[in-house]
Amino acid sequence: MSEAQWEFLCDGCALCCLQKLEDEDTGEVHYTHLVCRYLDAETCRCGEYQNRSKLVPNCVWLTRQNIDEFQWLPSTCAYRLIAEGKDLPDCHPLISGSADSVHQAGVSVKNKTISEEYVHPDEWECHLIDWVKVD
Ligand code: SF4
Ligand code: SF4
Repeated sequence: MSEAQWEFLCDGCALCCLQKLEDEDTGEVHYTHLVCRYLDAETCRCGEYQNRSKLVPNCVWLTRQNIDEFQWLPSTCAYRLIAEGKDLPDCHPLISGSADSVHQAGVSVKNKTISEEYVHPDEWECHLIDWVKVD
């Protein structure tokens, strides 16, 4: 798979751009509906894609080599599906032919988030959600 094909695998759901909290005792990761300040809420695309590593040091950078390290990725993430030998769903843009299908199917963050800018980190715990499935 070429670098370009690898990039195209991303379905644009932006679930990985949601802020998460880790349980210190169990290591379990819990998603919030607070999203990275650099996400364009309209398109669900990163507004700082080229600079993302510099601006957000923990921004996920998936490669074929490190995909197994990100156990917290949503179960719908295309990279995770491929790594687990599963098929892409019908709403994936590479299957549907439309970048909007992932939003229409309701599996993206579109219209479901608040920017992290508006919530103090001490309050993030009040913004946990259960609609992102990891298992
Ligand atoms: S969760 Fe996976 S498919 Fe969705 S935006 Fe992130 S990397 Fe792409
Ligand atoms: S910098 Fe971009 S890709 Fe990284 S978490 Fe923020 S919006 Fe997502």
